[in-house]
Amino acid sequence: MGGPRAFGFETDKLTHRPEEADVIRALAARALAGESLTSLSKWLDESGVRTVTGRPWRTVTVRQLLLNPRMYGMRTHRGETLTRAVWEPIISAADGERLRLLLTDPARRTNRTARRYVLSGVCRCGLCGTVMYSVPRFETRRYLCRSGTDFGGCGRMAIHADKLERFIVDAVLLRLDTPALTDALNGLPAHDDGEAGKLAAAIRADTDQLQELADMYADGEIDRAGMRRARQRIEDQRAVTAALSPG
Ligand SMILES: [Zn+2]
Repeated sequence: MGGPRAFGFETDKLTHRPEEADVIRALAARALAGESLTSLSKWLDESGVRTVTGRPWRTVTVRQLLLNPRMYGMRTHRGETLTRAVWEPIISAADGERLRLLLTDPARRTNRTARRYVLSGVCRCGLCGTVMYSVPRFETRRYLCRSGTDFGGCGRMAIHADKLERFIVDAVLLRLDTPALTDALNGLPAHDDGEAGKLAAAIRADTDQLQELADMYADGEIDRAGMRRARQRIEDQRAVTAALSPG
């Protein structure tokens, strides 16, 4: 019964918050008139309307709000069937049903290309740290730091997808190639805590260096040849670590 209050309702979960109830009615009308969730989220933020947690609106939040049976005076019983709730509905049951049909229409899904971009939502912008997403509208595949609704990045970073993916594959293969990691993956016990600590530190140092290398490459500070030279240095170091490792 805990959790944050529902938008549109007081903490007693029964009484309407009139200003928020008005917002919900406006949202429902605009959505049914064909306005996109992105446009609605932007409208909410620009109107100074806050979510119950005070965070910016996201399309998924607006969608959940408009699909919540609570808004049209119903509640889910045993996770399935809808029953009439004791509170007053904010929008009509007919509008609730029209919203459900509109917002759950499979034709609305727009993330079909996601699988082509393995690093989408994984790699991060070197300027602001926000996760970057693929943008299919360019001829060459790219990951972009995107600003605006649902993204919140600086919008100033773009990276060539093929080059970044090739670099990450190299880095991952290099990581998988270390004797220390092989031992860890094979579950080989370390001889004692001192040895395990030393190995862990070596692995951390390796990881940091690779991260730094990745950052420099992403920032355009080094080219592929420079990356190869730097990687050679890490490999030499790794050979020393391997020589010190037990077994
Ligand atoms: Zn950014």
